[in-house]
Amino acid sequence: MRILILGAGLAGVTLAQRLWKDGHEVTVVDRQSSAAAETSFANAGLICPGHAFAWASPQAPLILLKSLVRNDQPLRYRLQPDPAMWRWSLQFLAQCTAGRALRNTWHKHRLCRYGQSALQAVAAETGIAYDGGQGGLLYLYRTPASFARAIDHSQILADGGQEIQVIDREQAAKLEPALAATKDRIAGAIYCPTDERGDACKFTRGLAAWCAERGVAFRFDTRITGLIADGDRLTGVATDQGQLTADAYVMALGVEAPRLTRPLGEPIRVYPIKGYSLTIPIRNGDQPPCLGGVDDDHLVAYARLGDRVRLTAIAEFAGYDTSHQPADFATMLNSARELFPQAGDLSRPSYWACLRPMTPDGLPILGRGRLQNLWYHTGHGSMGWTMACGTARLVADLIAGRAPDLPLDGTQVR
Ligand SMILES: Cc1cc2nc3c(=O)[nH]c(=O)nc-3n(C[C@H](O)[C@H](O)[C@H](O)COP(=O)(O)OP(=O)(O)OC[C@H]3O[C@@H](n4cnc5c(N)ncnc54)[C@H](O)[C@@H]3O)c2cc1C
Repeated sequence: MRILILGAGLAGVTLAQRLWKDGHEVTVVDRQSSAAAETSFANAGLICPGHAFAWASPQAPLILLKSLVRNDQPLRYRLQPDPAMWRWSLQFLAQCTAGRALRNTWHKHRLCRYGQSALQAVAAETGIAYDGGQGGLLYLYRTPASFARAIDHSQILADGGQEIQVIDREQAAKLEPALAATKDRIAGAIYCPTDERGDACKFTRGLAAWCAERGVAFRFDTRITGLIADGDRLTGVATDQGQLTADAYVMALGVEAPRLTRPLGEPIRVYPIKGYSLTIPIRNGDQPPCLGGVDDDHLVAYARLGDRVRLTAIAEFAGYDTSHQPADFATMLNSARELFPQAGDLSRPSYWACLRPMTPDGLPILGRGRLQNLWYHTGHGSMGWTMACGTARLVADLIAGRAPDLPLDGTQVR
């Protein structure tokens, strides 16, 4: 079958590889001049089933309200004159019951674990180098109260089969020598020995090159301007380079997906949630963290990626705005100065901001909606690096008519 994949981020490229393996004639189209040039470009790099909690929880409404009046919160809820944001917010609030938070975390965790093992399989099969690092991730807590809450909370993931070790600050500093001088700043940590880290952009670009060598076509610098439907089928994709046609299509446009599907009567539940990312070079004599993890009270994620350290933070409602200013990175810089003061050259930061394609329940959208030949692989939110190889396998199974390995609860298009 001729399949056109819309989008060359993590979602599009991982699926291109699976569909190529199934013998399809695959083309990937993207407005950028390379793969992984938008949200998949500079994420935190954590492959982290050990942090797969749903964002919508009974505590979330209060956190959103607080962020309306305070500027220093890791979550920045800003009211936008955008009906899509209001719709999404109501759907998010509906997911904030204890029961739904538990169910969504359960499903998200299962997808993350599946995604991690699929990623390991793709890495082994292709040999792509992506500054990967195993040895686990550390989730750090600054106060006894937040540490106690986290221990309690982590039981959900432990019940789902996640290996979790509760450790004190001395043990944390043994595992992570970069914390030796700053360990008194934390109350304790949760260590997930099977979690990993790696550069999602390097991986995606490496996989795109691997696919291209085997015959997958990439049409870069091509902006999709509309989807053309006739009855219950998509008949083409309008672009600034002319119309493209195929037998089947896959929507992997990240945050842009809802803007293109809405005119077709398919208002999918994805909304952009902005995040900020800071990368610093490591010099000779620096002491970067060797494991990676999250400074959880400030929601700052960090990872060593080769000769750089990456820090990311903040979930902001800013519409489609990806601009940034140095002040936006203060939380990340403070976290680095407090916990890893010798991580790297803080005077030479690279700044980046991008948009998570978030669904209200934190689960991706997989499968088919109203149109019989339009498949979805999008809405991976804050966990696309962890999940994408696994969800790509699930969508490829659906396209092939094979039974997927996992139940797809909560991932339906409608
Ligand atoms: C700050 C931050 C930190 C994160 N950290 C982690 C982490 O540690 N671990 C983890 O698992 N996940 C993490 N994520 C999430 C992860 O990065 C995303 O889920 C993932 O990158 C989404 O991939 P995607 O392919 O859906 O979207 P994208 O990478 O944005 O891909 C969509 C593609 O579509 C193209 N496109 C869009 N519109 C058009 C158009 N009209 N025409 C043509 N092309 C178009 C874009 O150019 C882009 O290449 C993080 C995200 C952020 C923002």
